[in-house]
Amino acid sequence: MTSIPFSLPKLIDGVRACDRASVGRAITLVESTAPHDQAPAEELLRALIPLSGNAIRVGITGVPGAGKSTFIERFGLHRAGEGARVAVLAIDPSSPRSGGSILGDKTRMEQLSKHTDCFVRPSPSRGSLGGISQKTREVIIICEAAGFDTIIVETVGVGQSEVAVRSVTDFFILLCITGAGDELQGFKKGVIELADLILVNKADGENERAARQLSAELNGILHYLPPSSPHWSPRALPISSLSGEGILEADSLIKAAITELRNSGDLQTHRTTQLTEWLERLFRDEVERAVLSLPEIKKLQQVLTARVVKGDITAREAVRELIGRLPIHPESDQIL
Ligand code: GDP
Repeated sequence: MTSIPFSLPKLIDGVRACDRASVGRAITLVESTAPHDQAPAEELLRALIPLSGNAIRVGITGVPGAGKSTFIERFGLHRAGEGARVAVLAIDPSSPRSGGSILGDKTRMEQLSKHTDCFVRPSPSRGSLGGISQKTREVIIICEAAGFDTIIVETVGVGQSEVAVRSVTDFFILLCITGAGDELQGFKKGVIELADLILVNKADGENERAARQLSAELNGILHYLPPSSPHWSPRALPISSLSGEGILEADSLIKAAITELRNSGDLQTHRTTQLTEWLERLFRDEVERAVLSLPEIKKLQQVLTARVVKGDITAREAVRELIGRLPIHPESDQIL
């Protein structure tokens, strides 16, 4: 993927200068799983992290067909019109095995893609959901270092990817529609509790009334949910991404929320929590992987499993025995 020789300092300069090709290449580098790309990817991130953190990070989810790309295009162009620099990262949670893409291969956000101050990256993190948080986090760093001040992370509402996107963004939007078969699409999965703003899209033509009604119902539900911050109460709003009706209001709400969250310190606290929780998971996963791949431990695991199956020992005893054999060195505290 990135085996063509390249100069890392040049790539870093290119990202800082917001050269599209360099930004794209830097993203490809951090997404790469090739062993030889890991060290340059780390060096790149080390150089770019001090330049990151200044953008607002907005997550957006919704069922296929809800109008995500139509909304993002309109919203992004509106922001760009105000002088913002917008980067859109689309997370496609399609299984790598199926090879299919839920977001589709159609050209999405055509105008935004062509805009000089915008950057649209179709599918930065296809594959494991666990990888989404890490890779998206890193792609956000690259975009912020390149000077993008509004980062939109989009995902399809089909399961756990919303949680992953919520964990890397400051503000989370649920885009929904009426009459999608299930009026409470996605809501029962707890997505509504993740949302800072619910936009009922397609509030136009014959559908306008129903959309307004759904929005009012949602406001009723939101009223009873505990807000994620004392400085922001989630709400619902009917919009039409096609006509543009409500887009300005949605943008004003997002701006007001971000200002509140920033001024109260909640934004920073929230980002620190996201980072520490992610690191905790990362440590846990890596320690588990490292320990369980040790040949002695692997073998012991097999032996103990066989003994439990035979009824010689209990599962608890097996676990205790395994833990007792872990290669923790008594002098390891000296490392710190
Ligand atoms: P996505 O799959 O969530 O990205 O949805 P798209 O943005 O591709 O939109 C799906 C379809 O809904 C397209 O045919 C859009 O033109 C249409 N659509 C999107 N927003 C609106 C809207 O506000 N009103 C109406 N009437 N149609 C819309």
